[in-house]
Amino acid sequence: MDMNTIVGTHDILMITLDTLRYDTAVMEEENCPNLCGTGPWEKRHTPGSFTYAAHHAFFGGFLPTPATTDKTEHIRMFHSRNTGMKTHPHTWLFDTPDIVSGFAAEGYRTICIGGVIFFTKKNPLARVLPSYFQHSYWRMTFGVTNPRSTEHQVNHALKLLKDTTREQRLFMFLNVSAIHGPNHYFIPGAKKDSVDSQRAALRYVDGELGRLFDAFRERGNPTFCLAFSDHGTAYGEDGYQGHRLAHETVWNVPYREFIL
Ligand SMILES: [Zn+2]
Repeated sequence: MDMNTIVGTHDILMITLDTLRYDTAVMEEENCPNLCGTGPWEKRHTPGSFTYAAHHAFFGGFLPTPATTDKTEHIRMFHSRNTGMKTHPHTWLFDTPDIVSGFAAEGYRTICIGGVIFFTKKNPLARVLPSYFQHSYWRMTFGVTNPRSTEHQVNHALKLLKDTTREQRLFMFLNVSAIHGPNHYFIPGAKKDSVDSQRAALRYVDGELGRLFDAFRERGNPTFCLAFSDHGTAYGEDGYQGHRLAHETVWNVPYREFIL
């Protein structure tokens, strides 16, 4: 993908499927027609083991890297200008501290729809990531405790899309909270989060994202969509629980890019 033919001409939709494990995502490929309708997940390594670290890297232009030993295979999508490093002609260079303000400098309206705790804007730390954006939103109903969080997030996104003229280029970022714990309530009767309940959460999320993708298609601009996880999580493997630690269940993440 030549990002210099994307930035400026396409709307850009970036979705982080917070805490989604790579193995979970692969097991549900056939049940995710919206996320995987045009291809399978790619296995990548995340630059951060938890939300705060990973998103700073993403907004700095460091997306998850292909899980291969040959680094030359990876063409960076975004790169800071004037670092002195050689960059690929398909890499889009930005002159700002981060890609979000970089897109704004190209005329994009930048919108953040938050999900997990680091996007709640409830205290100064939880305002840092949303503050990258011109417009940021978080509601109780978008958060991890609401079993219909993605439905609410997508409804909010649809409203914002309606209010944006087609001529206005849009960078929309959505942090999906549903797959993050607690997710046991996606399996009736389950008391603990597990790979199975994360799978159920992912199926729910995919079902809701269909409406968002349709709305971008109906808007009429081509949309470049990036969908990936910020980190996985451990459910007891090798004794580990959760994330913010280094384990393959955490550092392997699913990644996809496609045009809507
Ligand atoms: Zn996260």
